[in-house]
Amino acid sequence: MTLRGRGPRRGAAMSNLGIVKDGALLIRDGCIAGVGTRAKIEALPEARSAEKLDVGGRVILPGFVDSHTHLVHAASRAEEYELKIAGASYEEMARKGGGILNSVKKLRASTSETLKRRALAALREFAAHGTTTIEAKSGYGLDVRSELKILGLHQELKREQPLEIASTFLGAHVVPAEYRGTPDGPQRYVGLLINRLIPEVAERKLAEFCDVFCDRGAFTRAQSEQILEAGTRHGLTPRIHAEQLTRTGATQLAVQLGAASCDHLEQVNQADIRDLAKSRTVGTLLPGCDFHLGLKQYAPARGLIEAGAIVALATDYNPGTSPTLSMPMILSLACTQLRMTPAESIAAATINAAYALRREKTIGSLEVGKLADISVFEVEDYREIPYYFGVNKCWMTIKRGEIVFRAAEAGASS
Ligand SMILES: [Zn+2]
Repeated sequence: MTLRGRGPRRGAAMSNLGIVKDGALLIRDGCIAGVGTRAKIEALPEARSAEKLDVGGRVILPGFVDSHTHLVHAASRAEEYELKIAGASYEEMARKGGGILNSVKKLRASTSETLKRRALAALREFAAHGTTTIEAKSGYGLDVRSELKILGLHQELKREQPLEIASTFLGAHVVPAEYRGTPDGPQRYVGLLINRLIPEVAERKLAEFCDVFCDRGAFTRAQSEQILEAGTRHGLTPRIHAEQLTRTGATQLAVQLGAASCDHLEQVNQADIRDLAKSRTVGTLLPGCDFHLGLKQYAPARGLIEAGAIVALATDYNPGTSPTLSMPMILSLACTQLRMTPAESIAAATINAAYALRREKTIGSLEVGKLADISVFEVEDYREIPYYFGVNKCWMTIKRGEIVFRAAEAGASS
């Protein structure tokens, strides 16, 4: 599947995957130098001297682009998982110091080395599930030192392992405990973000994007606007956590600010869908979150696609609400819970997600001139990628022309 064609996909175009049967690719210096049928590629003069890699009739597609993750965190929150099953709501737990604040406490107490080891293990798992680019947010530090520590780790991880990382500053995840005692505390924290952290993050080039969790229990629409505008003034592109638990108007704000993406969207209304469809802001859906929390209301993917919005899918990999890094699992949820077709879900996880990270010119499809970011699945038909769930069918992952994951052969001694 090449996903070739111009720019992000809307509506019916999401179903056109640009399939080439018995296809081949020519890779040169980490980029795609030729793509088409095997006969055509093998006839290229350069192909004769090229090293051959036979994938044996398996399905090849662009590496997944996971455009929403909270990569750097200290530990799982399995204890809360059990409490949630027993009936405690996510917001109840957050009020008692659980939730995001629980992860903040654990992160502040962790060394960079411990955090890095955990993140590196996760990045290997992302690659093992066919992902070649991820977005990573800060947001479990919530003080100057810890937020800068996470963003610094994004830069180190970028250099020290093969997957591409798009770094996002999410100092506005929630108001930290030390600012909650007084009525003006939250606004003072917003001041710290705007006057201190955003300028420093931009100055030191630690992030490309600025994000806000705009919801009940987090930041208001007015605060979100102040923060994202400050980010824009410093060259950080806005993205936003929108309408997850309640409808706040964050989607309209995202459109108004020309945000790259607004994510979650479980509670959007018809006007939001209409405005999003007319805009270039991507609607990124995170069904792993609703699945893990056992919520019944998923985002209205069909309404968004039929209205013509640019829809993407991501894992929302994080310890509290979506502890998965498997894009194939997200595709399975998109098909069964969001009623997206297998083709739509693949477009949403590749070219549209690349657009959500402003990287549609270099990744997200298999076309001449783009990076050779490729995943290969042990299936005969692309629909089997979401069809099988809870098992990993990824056979090989290639980043910039280099193999970064290869499945163990059955019966191999290793
Ligand atoms: Zn998130």
